[in-house]
Amino acid sequence: MIPFNWPYMTGKELHYISEAHFNGKLAGDGPFTKRCHTWLEQNTGATKALLTNSCTAALEMAALLLDISPGDEIIMPSYTFVSTANAFVLRGATPVFVDIRSDTLNLDEQLIEAAITSRTKAIVPVHYAGVACEMDTICNVAARHGLSVVEDAAQGVMAKYKGRPLGSIGNMGAYSFHETKNIISGEGGALLLNQPELILRAEIIREKGTNRSQFFRGEIDKYTWHEHGSSFLPGELISAFLWAQLEQAEAITEARMRSWQLYHNLLEPLEKKGLLRRPIISDDCEHNAHMYYILLPDFVDRYELLMQLKADGIHAVFHYVPLHLSPAGKRLGRAHGELKNTTKLADRLVRLPLWCGISEQQQIHIVNVLAKLLD
Ligand SMILES: *Cc1c(COP(=O)(O)O)cnc(C)c1O
Repeated sequence: MIPFNWPYMTGKELHYISEAHFNGKLAGDGPFTKRCHTWLEQNTGATKALLTNSCTAALEMAALLLDISPGDEIIMPSYTFVSTANAFVLRGATPVFVDIRSDTLNLDEQLIEAAITSRTKAIVPVHYAGVACEMDTICNVAARHGLSVVEDAAQGVMAKYKGRPLGSIGNMGAYSFHETKNIISGEGGALLLNQPELILRAEIIREKGTNRSQFFRGEIDKYTWHEHGSSFLPGELISAFLWAQLEQAEAITEARMRSWQLYHNLLEPLEKKGLLRRPIISDDCEHNAHMYYILLPDFVDRYELLMQLKADGIHAVFHYVPLHLSPAGKRLGRAHGELKNTTKLADRLVRLPLWCGISEQQQIHIVNVLAKLLD
């Protein structure tokens, strides 16, 4: 069986974990966490990076930082992972789902303005497959209406928009280091802060609502409770693992890009025959090969195709059930307009196996089987 994903290890993970073990510093914000913070700040240009336990946790921190409260509305795509919505729903806000573009499957920036009401607080663009949303337009709309922009850049580590790293463009950005992403630590994430005035409160919220970070830096002589917060920081063993991955982030991304491009070349003839549609990447985007997906034509039964691929030893998968069609999304969210692209494209999408180290032979086999099944 060719698996859908295979977590890549650089070989240095256990070495750094044993170093952390030897250091005897296991709680958060030790030497490895600091190294990861510095790496993220240097490589993204974010004012401040803070490791979190997950991208979900980073989004929850963003919601707390923005003082999101009951009745607030947050504009986001419906075609996304549940955490994009949940982080804000936990604060009592209503997700307002806006349709996606048919080319990138990202939030349609042209539809955002019409969805804004007096209760709107933020826009949460999701960079699907590590391909950037139209951030210039989104940030302009946000600025005109006094809204915050929180980038769900869970899939966007090492990807860029007009030369700017994803996650560093909005007020804040959230990264994921989950095992299924490009750069991993099992569970893990980071919040990027792109405004200096957000830093102090973010540190407090992440440290159980206390100013312990300032205390550890020797800036104050005792720490205490300052506001709402929780424990959002990972321990050093996780950070040590992540450090091994960040050191190799460029090599990992290059390897994924080679595999992505091979699929893209091999599938071109099938697209020309009208058997599928390949991903579309605009010149403004430097993506990170997080995902290779195809869009099937209407006459192909996706479920049937996935079953046949499985029978041929290939584990391909579909992606999100749109949130506005989910039980919780119907109860807790609101769809702005018809969401035609969301509903149609979510049903047509198939993700092909892709990881750092998939072989050319495996990819050629996958495309040959696809060609046979679709033709
Ligand atoms: C993976 C993912 C998340 C959640 O990341 P975790 O680190 O697992 O919490 C959120 N949003 C998107 C778009 C994702 O792909």
